This record gives sequence, C-alpha cells and structure tokens, in this order.
Amino acid sequence: MKNGGKRIGILALQGDFALHARMLDRLEAPWKLVKHVPDLDEIGGLILPGGESTTMLKFFGEEGWGEAIRRFAAQGKPLFGTCAGTILLASEVLNPPQERLGLIDITVERNAYGRQVDSSVRYGDCPELTDHPLEMVFIRAPIIRRVGAGVRVLGRAEGLPVLVEQGSVLAATFHPELTEDETVHRYFLRKV
Ligand code: GLN
Repeated sequence: MKNGGKRIGILALQGDFALHARMLDRLEAPWKLVKHVPDLDEIGGLILPGGESTTMLKFFGEEGWGEAIRRFAAQGKPLFGTCAGTILLASEVLNPPQERLGLIDITVERNAYGRQVDSSVRYGDCPELTDHPLEMVFIRAPIIRRVGAGVRVLGRAEGLPVLVEQGSVLAATFHPELTEDETVHRYFLRKV
C-alpha cells in the first residue's frame, strides 16, 4: 500500500492492544497488529496502547523500536498513545525517570494517582471533540505534570490535562478503548 495506506497499526508487544482493535472494528477502520519493526511500513498511523511501559521498553531494546518509531513520526504519520503509550511518547518521565521517545513535549509522572486508587472512572471534558462529558477509565495512570508550549490540551478531568496533542501526536492518560464512547478514536482517525 502506498505510504502505508490508511490502515491503523496497533503496537502489540504487550498490554491491551486487543481492545483498540475492537474499537477500530466498531468504527469500521482497517487495522494491523504491529509486532515487528517492518510492520510499520504497512500502516498509516500507530496506536501505542496501555499496559506496562517498563515491559514495553524491554521489548523496545530488542529490535530498535525507538529509532523506527521516531522515523515513522518524522514522516508526519500520526501516533496515539494511551496510558503506558503516553508514557512512552513523553519527553520526560518521573517516578522514576525512564527511557522515552520524546515525541510530545510533556512531563508525565507514572502511577501518580496513588495506590489507593489503582483504577477509577472519572468524567472529563474535551470541548473541541464533543459537547458531552466523556467517561474516562484510569488504571495505574500517569498524571501530566507539565505541558510544553507547543502542546494543546484537548481534554481535562478534575482540572488536570488528560488528553493532549502536539502536531500529529495525540496522547491520553486514560483508556478510551475501555468504554463504549468512540469520540477519541474517531478524532484520531480523522488525523490519519
Ligand atoms: N502504570 C503503567 C506504566 O507506568 C501504565 C498503566 C496503564 O497503561 N494502564 O507503564
């Protein structure tokens, strides 16, 4: 397919990639699980799912994923991170600091909601995407502590930024694939 076509890749090294596939099926968007670096040549956009960022980083080391994903982004192809995926995309990671792709200028603090609230459902607003309050599922989620000058905040919950965008990179600290609400995936598909 020329230019990777419009097929959406879902990074499938670890984590909840299958639920993103389910959401894309609902939206009738073609997708491909991305398990090896050459798979990136066959897609037009990439979802980095939630899971455990430290585990994903171990896989990253094995196949030169960092350089390959940065090259993919440099071609202007859209990326969408959720939770651990957002941690991978960030320019700075705290608690503790770890390797990252540096593709969106934000600082994220891992597991920042504390142990008592390992997971929770909150309602937030994404006024540019929809009028209705969005149901947001947070699981051992990071908090975005700093947003760089070039980054737009598209969504907030309880005053904190939870959905941000810089150029072709979209990042959420919650899990839109875990609800029935298609708003955020629809928005990403329009970027591809
Ligand atoms: N706490 C995980 C991490 O630091 C992220 C959790 C998630 O993706 N739901 O990678």
